[in-house]
Amino acid sequence: MHIEVRGLNKQFGDFHAVRDVSFEIGKGQLIGLLGPSGGGKTSILRMLAGLETPSSGDIIFHGKRVNDLPPQERGIGFVFQNYALFKHMTVFDNVAFGLKVKKVAKDVIRERVMSLVELTGLKGFEHRYPHQLSGGQRQRVAFARALAPEPQLLLLDEPFAAIDAKIRTELRTWLKDMIERLGITSIFVTHDQDEAIEVADEIMIINKGRLEQKGTPWDIYKSPQTQFVASFIGESTIVDQVEQLKGFEEAKSWPGTKALIRPEYIEIGKRHEFRLASATVPGKVKHLHFRGSEWMVEVVVGDIKLITYRSLEKDVLQPGEDISVLIHRAYLFNDNDTWIMENK
Ligand code: ATP
Repeated sequence: MHIEVRGLNKQFGDFHAVRDVSFEIGKGQLIGLLGPSGGGKTSILRMLAGLETPSSGDIIFHGKRVNDLPPQERGIGFVFQNYALFKHMTVFDNVAFGLKVKKVAKDVIRERVMSLVELTGLKGFEHRYPHQLSGGQRQRVAFARALAPEPQLLLLDEPFAAIDAKIRTELRTWLKDMIERLGITSIFVTHDQDEAIEVADEIMIINKGRLEQKGTPWDIYKSPQTQFVASFIGESTIVDQVEQLKGFEEAKSWPGTKALIRPEYIEIGKRHEFRLASATVPGKVKHLHFRGSEWMVEVVVGDIKLITYRSLEKDVLQPGEDISVLIHRAYLFNDNDTWIMENK
């Protein structure tokens, strides 16, 4: 289903929870709504679902304004974080529920439920009750139940939050594959950036009720359009005064310019490891953390603390060791603008 939202606002009394949000979502896309707690993600989802009335703005499905349609007429499936399964019903009856409500013929229900049970890897579990399933299995029942009435839009609110870390990763991949295969437009809410980056075709960053940026995970990482997005996605250090960095001469003439430095913008090493030593600045190793595949290194340059990674193949550094630091690029921003600058 193609979705368009124009100028969406939601006020709870004096509190403005969603502010002038507009976006479009193409059919079959998997979108992650990402942002800090209280930013307005759930409120946006609930307005799309028809569970909350917008204070102003339009919600358009397939070119038709649906603001006044009740939830059951919007062609939507839901999955919530706490499964919300019917405890007294078997897996089969949970999945069949939406179809029974619609008074679908019994044999059609049976066929559809069994195909979803198979699709969600729950074959053989049809007669179990929710308490006889693992968290991951219960969440798959919730997906199957949401998919049974053949929704055109699937809304998922923190669908993986209640599941332990190991199964969560598996379930994410599984969900992404399944949604791709079925081609259902889907929107999921998360506050976990790794989850959004791994799963979503496009991410919408929501902060303080506003849509800060919408784009592919790579776009957002590589070209953040606001300071908030830059610091929310990926690891980084913010340097208050760009004068403290070597290179970046041009930026120094912009008053109030700050720099955001990502780990991969930095190269560190012993002095002899750099061919162009003139471009480096002296630094010191503060801490080293072994990460299995590489070292995470905390480095200090003057009073700036930076984080970077170093391959295991290179010479081992020691805490307290004097090193050279080369900052290749910086993400710069001031009150008016944001831009990326290479160290020249
Ligand atoms: P979280 O990740 O914590 O669920 P969120 O980004 O989904 O956060 P929302 O649940 O949309 O945020 O809430 C946005 C803001 O609106 C919050 O400050 C919340 O307290 C407020 N809010 C939500 N629902 C209501 C309500 N029914 N009445 C008053 N305020 C509300």
